[in-house]
Amino acid sequence: MIEKELLSAALSATSEGVIIATVRHDNKPDRIIYGNRAFEKLIGFDNASIINHKYNLLERLSKNTPVTEDEIVNAITAGKSIQCIRKSHTKSGDYFWHELSISPVLDESGTLTHIIGVLHNINERIHHQEKIEQQNLLLKRKNQQLDELASHDFLTTLYNRRFFDRELTRLCAFHQRYKIPLNMAFFDIDHFKQYNDYYGHNEGDRALCLVAEQISQHFSREADICARYGGEEFVVLSASDSDEATFLKHVEAVRLKIEQLAIPHKKSTSAKVITVSAGIYVAVPLRGMSPNYFTEEADHAMYQAKQLGRNCVAVARHIRMASG
Ligand code: GH3
Ligand code: MG
Ligand code: MG
Repeated sequence: MIEKELLSAALSATSEGVIIATVRHDNKPDRIIYGNRAFEKLIGFDNASIINHKYNLLERLSKNTPVTEDEIVNAITAGKSIQCIRKSHTKSGDYFWHELSISPVLDESGTLTHIIGVLHNINERIHHQEKIEQQNLLLKRKNQQLDELASHDFLTTLYNRRFFDRELTRLCAFHQRYKIPLNMAFFDIDHFKQYNDYYGHNEGDRALCLVAEQISQHFSREADICARYGGEEFVVLSASDSDEATFLKHVEAVRLKIEQLAIPHKKSTSAKVITVSAGIYVAVPLRGMSPNYFTEEADHAMYQAKQLGRNCVAVARHIRMASG
């Protein structure tokens, strides 16, 4: 049998904290009857203050700990060891994270009399993990910002053409598969070159933003995608309206709202204010049809609207005046 002094020297020498505590009638740890030097060092109290102190072993279990308080009590009652991650406060008010291994001590009749706790300091590891988690969160936010920048137009904040083209391809495939009509509208500001030349580029930019705002405010459902296609051209992809007549009504409403903004345009030969011409194309995409077909048809209809006198909406193929 190993000598008591030798055993005590070993416990004093180890860098792991070791405590022995009594248990209550409900098998929960009660009072500390022993704490080794490493344990004293960890919590900053000397042995005199530790002994007979209540040991709230089951408090402050980490969220990450895979065990619950009941599981710990059940394990030690059954004579089994169990591990958990826990944080303890030190004398100075700080805290430290540690892995705690709890082992039961049973008497000859198998009754639980004490528990032995071995504490392994993992403070540095947890802080390191927390730092990595914070950095990952920061990185995730930065990536979201980059995604936002990569898919949006800087001036108007609408989606950009790159994003639109990608969505058009995706939606074409989806609508073709489920045989649902896809609605596209192409808007182009009338005589915008003259507006820029007369009022200046800054005023031109301001007008572009106001027009973009009208379009995106009207087509604001989740299934609507509004994008700046090019300089003074905007596109809307909508899966909200199932028929051409309804979609036409909406596009016509936007055309009217833009006219009603009443932004003076002295150099326009078709109106006294800024107006748009629009073309729409509504169809169920056919198998093998290029997504560009939608843009080309809507653009073609918009061109027809220009020829019909501008400030109006035309429908692809069967060109028809909506207003103007
Ligand atoms: P139409 O009625 O036939 O569409 O004539 P338009 O003058 O609008 O068409 P055109 O394509 O000749 O001119 C488009 C003008 O849009 C050219 C350019 O001055 C202006 N533009 C394009 N991008 C921007 C921009 O980012 N900011 C500003 N301020 N103007 C732009
Ligand atoms: Mg144009
Ligand atoms: Mg134009």
